[in-house]
Order: sequence, then C-alpha cells, then structure tokens
Amino acid sequence: MTESKPLKVLVVDDDPFQCSIVTKVLNAMGISEVKSETDARAGVELLDSEWDLLLLDLNMPGMDGIEFLTVMADVPRKPPVVFFSGEEGRILEVAEELAQSLDMDVLGSIAKPVSRDKLAAVIEQLRDRAEKPERRQQGFEVLSVEEIEAGIQNGAVEMFYQPKVDAQNLDLIGVESLLRWRKPDGSMIGPGAIIPTAESNGIIYPLTLEVLRSSIKQQAEWRAKNINIKVSCNLSVDDLTQPDLVSKLDGMLETYRVPADSIILEVTESKLAEDVKVVLASLTRLRLKGFSLSIDDFGTGFSSMEQLRRFPFTELKIDRAFVNGAGRRASAKAIFQSSVNLAKAMNMVAVAEGVEDNDDLELAISLGTDLIQGYFIARPMAAAELEGWYLGRGH
Ligand SMILES: [Mg+2]
Repeated sequence: MTESKPLKVLVVDDDPFQCSIVTKVLNAMGISEVKSETDARAGVELLDSEWDLLLLDLNMPGMDGIEFLTVMADVPRKPPVVFFSGEEGRILEVAEELAQSLDMDVLGSIAKPVSRDKLAAVIEQLRDRAEKPERRQQGFEVLSVEEIEAGIQNGAVEMFYQPKVDAQNLDLIGVESLLRWRKPDGSMIGPGAIIPTAESNGIIYPLTLEVLRSSIKQQAEWRAKNINIKVSCNLSVDDLTQPDLVSKLDGMLETYRVPADSIILEVTESKLAEDVKVVLASLTRLRLKGFSLSIDDFGTGFSSMEQLRRFPFTELKIDRAFVNGAGRRASAKAIFQSSVNLAKAMNMVAVAEGVEDNDDLELAISLGTDLIQGYFIARPMAAAELEGWYLGRGH
C-alpha cells in the first residue's frame, strides 16, 4: 500500500473491551489517530472535529446507534460510517438505508466479533477513495457540451478496463471497458462528469463511437498478444436509434480485424422500454452480426419476462444493488437468486456486478453465478496494468 495521509478514526461502542481491541487493530494497521468513546452522547460531541471514518455500534444502551445517526444528520461534516453489530440482517439493512436517506456515506457493516480482516477491508476501501479523488469528484464536476465535443476530437477518451472473471476459478474471461477522460491539464475524471451531459444534450453517439473505436482497437492489440478475453462496451439507448450504428461498428471490426463475437455490447435494462421497436430491431441486427449482447444493471428496471424473451440478450448483469451486501439483506438476495435463475432458464450468462467482499463472492458462487465483477476482484485499470494483472495470475 502506498503512503497516504494519516486517517483519523472515531469509534463509538459502549463496550470498552471492543473499543480497545478495535483501537489496537487499527494501530497495528498504521492508523495511530484513533479515538474511542463508550458513551454515545459524548461521541456526538466529538463529531465537531473532522474524522475520516466513524465506526459505530448499533446496539448501545441509552443512545443507540440509530438515534446517534439521526443526531449526526445535523452535523456539517459527516464522516463515512461503518456499523458494528451483533444483529443479523434486517436491522443492519434498515440502518444502512436510514443513513443513506440522511445523506450519509455508508461503507458497510461489520458483524461482531470484529476481526482484523474485516477492519482491514474497510480501511483499504477508505484509502482507495483517498487516492482516487476522481471518484468523489464525479458528483461535483460536470463538463460542458463544448468541452466534451472538443475532448472527443482531441483524444480525451482513455478507456479503463475492469476484469470479469469466472466465479468458479477466477480466470479472466473478459473486461468491461469504462470511460475515463483526460482533461487538458492532464488530470483524469470519471464518466459521471461526462455521460449524463452527453446523453441529455444529444452528443452521446459521437462519444460512444469513440469509446467503441478505442475499445475495439485495444481488443486487437490484446488478440495480437494472445490475450483472449472479451471486451464489453456500454451503449446508450440513444445509440441504438442511430441508423448507421451497425455499419459504423462493422467498419471498426474490419479496420482492426476483430471478430464480432469478441465484443459484448451492454445496454441498461431501465432504458430498454424507451423506444422498444427501434431498439429491438437494432439489437437484433447487432446479434445477427455476431456481437454478444448484455442486459446491464438488471433488476433496476421492470422488464417483464415477455420483454426479456423478445430481446436477443446473451448475458444478464445483475445490478450491484442486489449483489453487494446481499448476504445480509433477504430481499436483495431473493432478487439476486431469481435473476440468476432467470438467466439460466433463458440460456444467458449470469454476471454479478459489485462483488466487493468475500461474502459477496461466496454468495455469488452459491447462487450459481457464472461470472463476477467488482472491487473485490479488481478495479478498473489502464490497458497496460490489465495486462500485468492478467499475466500475474499465471496465464
Ligand atoms: Mg456496464
């Protein structure tokens, strides 16, 4: 792990023994600025100073964790929260939902007993964020239409690739190509600053074409190096209504000598219903050309079985909302399970997105998921780094 600025952690737990264990474990991980408080009301006072993380016990006498959260809602600088709980399931789920509805940043929960591994995972997540401010900037920085148009022309598009691996043996099967954007000052930003603006201003298509071109070119380079993986690219529904999309894609395959079946095109489920006839025609043509088609963020829209049956999808990507933490959220788990079953029944590859810890991974495997993607496996990375990652895994 690279050097990062020291983290300040606040622990609020009525059990002094628990506090001292957590403090020791954090100290051993190189975090010396740990303050623990066994009295929740005194803990509230401490929120006046700035913290990088709050570890909060839900079950405390007097002021409990939920009450603590409601009081914390009025604090101007709310640290990200991780819950401790001896409780299973629903109570943690409710606490997380409540915290999110109060605009708090919930990193997750740790079931007691608290172990070094569980804490280490949280701390790593926190450090990653600190090192990748782009992820936090997304909500604030939005490029203008002019900046986006200029950037497409001037090579601002730089794709990152996130591994998608076999759930059984963790072999690399493919990557999802994700937009990164190099600003004129050299800094990188993520898709949040660009895609919504491009979509709402009718300039998503030229952006998508550049994304496709760049990803297909990369696929050609990998094939030349004998790295045989599939490359997935995200399409907007708007792209599917463009009459020349199929011929443009055809041209790119020809230019870079890449076969269609090494490319997967992803379309978000919630957008499918927008222009059903045109979208269906377009997807069918792409499928006939040999592209694989993936229904993305599955579970967030309301596709009926009938609709699904009509679309020629080959892969179903279950949205992270039903994957990450689903082991302790019965409703999420039920949707996860039925999505996997649906994919199997329709001969589609079931992919779980948002696998962020070992519990998510084990659940995905136990539910019969074919492929998994998520931070627990690997984050999106530049092409060269992906090659190193691939080779490092004994391929
Ligand atoms: Mg996607």
